[in-house]
This record gives sequence, structure tokens and C-alpha cells, in this order.
Amino acid sequence: MRKKVGIIIVLLALVLVAGCKSQAVAIEDADLTEASEQEVVVERVIPEELPEPEPIDPKELIDLSLKPNELGKVMVLMYHNIGDEEQDWVRTPDNFKRDLNTLYEQGYRPLSLTDFATGNITTEQGYTPIIITFDDARENNIRYMDDGSIDPECAVGILLSFHETHPDFPLEVTFFADGPSAFGSSDEEVAKINFIIEQGMDIGNHTSNHPNFKDADAAKIQKEIGQQAQNLEDMIEAETYKVNTIALPFGSRPRADELEIYLHEGSYEGVTYENLAILNVGSNPAYSPYDERFNALSLPRVRASEMNVDNVGMYSYLEYFVNHPEAKFISDGNAQIITVPAGDGDLGNMEKEIYFYEMEDASEE
Ligand SMILES: [Zn+2]
Repeated sequence: MRKKVGIIIVLLALVLVAGCKSQAVAIEDADLTEASEQEVVVERVIPEELPEPEPIDPKELIDLSLKPNELGKVMVLMYHNIGDEEQDWVRTPDNFKRDLNTLYEQGYRPLSLTDFATGNITTEQGYTPIIITFDDARENNIRYMDDGSIDPECAVGILLSFHETHPDFPLEVTFFADGPSAFGSSDEEVAKINFIIEQGMDIGNHTSNHPNFKDADAAKIQKEIGQQAQNLEDMIEAETYKVNTIALPFGSRPRADELEIYLHEGSYEGVTYENLAILNVGSNPAYSPYDERFNALSLPRVRASEMNVDNVGMYSYLEYFVNHPEAKFISDGNAQIITVPAGDGDLGNMEKEIYFYEMEDASEE
């Protein structure tokens, strides 16, 4: 119980006035008797020892009727170009807009690649995280108009306007840049890279020369990755920003297993690098970061295309998840708790609270 103690402080207005010359002048001709009768009443609450409020169990805020399943799969989409003619690696502006609309309508919400790789799923509850990536840093990813504005038909332009009309569709996209002259022109490279980061999107590593790593040795791998990480970080104005994700050119990995480590970490000219996420070209949705099979250092991607995708493109999986909603990741809205239908899958070793629930109960609500 909160106890109120009222303290009445009575101050003579005259005393106040005496301490303030300008006021004294102002009320010189006022009725002093009336002024002296004014009382200033201050009521204060004196805090006393209160019992600690009952902590709310964050699990109570999880709506089980939304059937959260944080062991379900997540798509990492791989785009390359936005252009006028649809091709294997080119999406038209209209098709890209349709992709975003379809994702939105079907309950997908973009999540940053680093949050996904580190298991920090901040996606709103009831929704499915989706990771959007672009490779090769072509001019059609971000282009300026003559007046300096962003071309509304380039990838960034389309993403910005979609986010404006759908603010609950986070602006989380990673652009993997190989060098030099990312995004088409060396004059505009720095401005474009920084614009992307200022908007909250990310720049990832796609190596200096887009090599095939199959036959590369340790020195070449470290040069290709380390040099480009330094090149990009030198251009990035945000001082703490690290380029710590990589999309492997051609999805290629060194043949020799002992060289794999250099995709993850290494150094070039005395400067170290570390990649938290390594992306393949692969063709299937990724495991949940909480699944014991999850490997951030070898993440498969789904081709965001409809041409020659052999039934493993983005729309094939969207349809699959419509028919198998139990297979996809559905967020519980709390990044610290892993909510999973009882008896589902094998959890990896994450230092988070695990919350099992009976799916039947949820569906009856
Ligand atoms: Zn590439």
C-alpha cells in the first residue's frame, strides 16, 4: 500500500516578492493584503519501502495460438540484379516488388543476416524471419538519378519505398560487394556504401576479385577476403562497423578441408578479419539458429528467381511452407526465449530459455 503524506507549505507571498526585485516592481500597486493571503500548497508522496512487484513471466506474453516454432526453417534469399528483362540472375522491378508483397502478405519479415547468424531473432511474434541478400554489387542495386535522388526502380529504391508503405517490414538487406568500384562507379562507391549503412542495411564481403576458391591456397584466400574487408571498412564512415559476413563467389570452398578456417578468419597485411556468417549458393532453406544442425559458417541460400530454378526457387518454398506451415520458423517475439512445440527437433546449445508447449492446446484456444 502506498501511503500519502501531504505536506502543506505555507509561504507568504510577500517573502517571495521581497527576494525578487522585478516582481516587486511589477506588483508595486497590487493589493498587498490579497497577495499575502495566497498559499502555495505542495503535496508530496514520500516513498517508502515497497514490496518488489511480482515479475511478469515473459512467457505469458507469448501468444501460443500463433503457433510459434523456433526450430522451423528460414529462407536466406539470394538476389543479384534488378533489370528490365527477367533472366536467371535478373529480377525485373515489377517482379521484385511482387516478391516483397508476397513475402509481406505471407507473414515474412526481414531480419539482418548477423542477427540470424547469432541467433538474435527479433522478429515480431507470429511472423517468419526472412534474410534478403544481393550479390555482386551491380549498379542496378543502387543508382542515382540526375537530381541525386535514388532511382525508384533500383533495388534500394524499391526497398525504401516498400518499407515506407510497410513500416513493419524492416529495412534489413545485405549487399555483398566485390571490388573495386562496387555499385558501378568508383566516384559514387563511397556515397552508395555509406547510404546503405545509414539506412540500416548491411554491406558484406564478396572478395576482391570474385575468385573460385576451389584451388586457392591459404595466402590467396586471406588476401581475397582480408583485402576486401579492409577496402570496404576504409570507405565506411561508421567507425565501429565491421564487414563480417561473406557470400562465397560461385559458392566455392577450398578443396582442402584445412583451408576452410580462412573463410571464417585470417589476416592480410597484418590486419585480421572474422566472418560470422558464410553464405553458399545452395538451394534450400536454412536450419533455425537454434537447431543443432545449424552452421552459420555454411548457410544455404534460396534463389530469389522464377527462371530455371528446378523447383527449388523462392516460390517453390513459399508454396511448400503454405502447405507445411509446421516446417517454417514462426517467432515468439522474444529473442531470449526459444519457443518450440513439444517433441519437435533437436535443440543446439544456445544459452537461452527454452519453452516447450503442446501444439494441441494452442489450436483449441
Ligand atoms: Zn558473385
